[in-house]
Amino acid sequence: MHEDFRQSVEFSHDLFKRHISQGDRVLDATAGNGKDTLFLAELVGPQGKVWAFDIQKKAINNTDRLLKDNNVREQVSLILAGHENLDNYIEGKVEGIIFNLGYLPGGNKKIVTRPETTLIALKSGLDILKVKGIIVMVFYTGHQGGKKEFDEIYDYVKELDHNQYNVLHYHFVNQKKPPAELVGIKKRG
Ligand code: SAH
Repeated sequence: MHEDFRQSVEFSHDLFKRHISQGDRVLDATAGNGKDTLFLAELVGPQGKVWAFDIQKKAINNTDRLLKDNNVREQVSLILAGHENLDNYIEGKVEGIIFNLGYLPGGNKKIVTRPETTLIALKSGLDILKVKGIIVMVFYTGHQGGKKEFDEIYDYVKELDHNQYNVLHYHFVNQKKPPAELVGIKKRG
């Protein structure tokens, strides 16, 4: 009751907790240091399956170590490839996809997700999303190119057919720094 409002990443986890169960199949489009991958691996459990993508070996290694330290490495496939190629790696449908965009915390800030490839991955993600499944994207608008990435994806998601998808936008409106922007998409039945 007396908790603060959720930051975007916490809110993304709340959405997953409400929609994803043990045994589900989910995708982390940007493994980074592995925090979301770990969260998803615990959420779907040993009967579930997580695919996690990153283009940087450092990110894949950090994620691998975090998963092993928490005994959830088995249900995760780590893929050193761009999420725009997810079609080549995933068969069948998934219940959830998370994108935590931008650069690797503690890594090279010049290696960032880009609007063109993020959009390709989002479109492929929508194709493999099960009915009642969710896609959650967290954007950071403070770094070079971050605002452009958000604007381009926002232009696309706001035109998604409301008969097929519910689209949510969550952010703080009175922060001094550029806020993180969260977009949630739910495929309707
Ligand atoms: N900004 C977030 C973390 C984002 S990590 C935070 O503050 O917590 C984003 C990750 O996306 C980085 O590790 C980066 O290497 C990865 N990435 C960049 N382009 C990618 C692509 N096309 N496919 C998959 N991962 C990508």
